[in-house]
Amino acid sequence: MDIMMGLAAATQALDIAKKLREFDQDFKASEFRLQIAELYGNLADVKIALADAKAALQEKDQEIERLKRVNEGKLKTIRIGNYNFGIGEDGKPLSKAFCPACEQSNGAQIPISRGLSGHDLCPKCQGVYDARATNLPVGFKMPE
Ligand SMILES: [Zn+2]
Repeated sequence: MDIMMGLAAATQALDIAKKLREFDQDFKASEFRLQIAELYGNLADVKIALADAKAALQEKDQEIERLKRVNEGKLKTIRIGNYNFGIGEDGKPLSKAFCPACEQSNGAQIPISRGLSGHDLCPKCQGVYDARATNLPVGFKMPE
């Protein structure tokens, strides 16, 4: 049950409560019991919806925390060609680009490693890249 269904149930419950308050003296006991049963069902739905919403919020909080931790551990990067290269503590780019597939899928900075015959590999997702594009160009200078 989602928040919208919970809100709808809450609205129905309030309508029923209003009707019950407005009942005049000659209401039928059976009608009264029916309205009370409906009210009870609606309030139960509200409770379920609120519990579900609480769980969903907790999940989102955990995901935000995880993304913050991922982000804090990240290197600054410089874009060279179609790839991001991490910038080391010396202010210079690392010799290997980060795997763009891993960067996009989960924000991970995985340096592509040397493979065979001009093809480099991502050690995590096994993506294959052209080594000429993923190696830092010889003589590369950081822009001023
Ligand atoms: Zn990868």
